[in-house]
Amino acid sequence: MANLKHRTKTALVGAWTGATWATGLARLTDAMCPPRLTILYGHCVADPGLNGSLHEDMKIEAEHLRSLLGALGRRHDLVTVAEGMDRLAGGGGGRSMVALTMDDGYRDNLVRLVPLLEEVGGRATVFLEAGAVVERRLPWLHALGWLDAELGTTAAARALADRVPSAAAALGEVSDSNRLKRVLKYDADRAERASALEALVVEHGGEPRAIVDSLYLSHAEARELARADCIEVGGHTVDHPVLSRLAAPEQHEQIARGRALLAELLEDGSGGVAAGSCGRTFAYPYGRNWDRDADSEAAARDAGYEFAVTTHEGTNFAAAPRFALRRIPIHGGTRLARLGAAAAGALPQRML
Ligand SMILES: [Zn+2]
Repeated sequence: MANLKHRTKTALVGAWTGATWATGLARLTDAMCPPRLTILYGHCVADPGLNGSLHEDMKIEAEHLRSLLGALGRRHDLVTVAEGMDRLAGGGGGRSMVALTMDDGYRDNLVRLVPLLEEVGGRATVFLEAGAVVERRLPWLHALGWLDAELGTTAAARALADRVPSAAAALGEVSDSNRLKRVLKYDADRAERASALEALVVEHGGEPRAIVDSLYLSHAEARELARADCIEVGGHTVDHPVLSRLAAPEQHEQIARGRALLAELLEDGSGGVAAGSCGRTFAYPYGRNWDRDADSEAAARDAGYEFAVTTHEGTNFAAAPRFALRRIPIHGGTRLARLGAAAAGALPQRML
């Protein structure tokens, strides 16, 4: 029943956004609605050589992204998050804005995304996970992805059950890879999870550092990315934890140290930071309301960030909470009409 309701709603929203985009109604709402910033988010521009092993939901084809940004750019200004928020706060007129964001710091963000943005006149905010990009440690999700592909989900879950006592009971029963991710994400002790996954990858012939190097920007690539005119670099913690599961001091450590590591990496040698607007915007790991709490926002403010983005869908108007900005996901199945309607203010929050 819930599934039917969801499918019906998806179909209705699809029909509504298609109609508003095709008939020009989106232009009308765009002109009538107050100024707004629509933030899109993804992870990678698909490239078999750079991110072939990652889940399809994390990728968007270059051609698809180019056509989305090209079309949105004809009606809206393409900006970074910090730039868009500055303009909203300034209260000036002008066109409404669309900001693309990419999470985690994958290599394609430099190799594929920057040339694409230069081509369409776009801009983007890229959030770097400092543990992977700066410290070159393999994030648990990618260790799990490697192990799952190598052993199969059931065998991987059994091997983990022996080494992660905090989630052993739940792990013993798992045969579905999404369920395995959820158990490890929310039920397992972080230290147990990290050491068990790293040990299992090594025991089965994997090289954690080589996996990091194949997926994430190198130090030189991160600096080059930060120097690109079309890029704002933002923070994404050190280890990508579920912040709401951490005590306030640990949250602060994750967010502040993540920002400090990035600043150190991106310093241009003259004491300045390579990117003009590095370190203003933060992305909460996972980004759902239950993945963060009031301490997360306080920690982001204390660390020196000015804005923070979630993964709850919606468009941001001038009064939007600066530390709970909404974003809309983009991937292979994303339709222009939906993004166009949202950017035009024609997709009410209730429809998302
Ligand atoms: Zn992330």
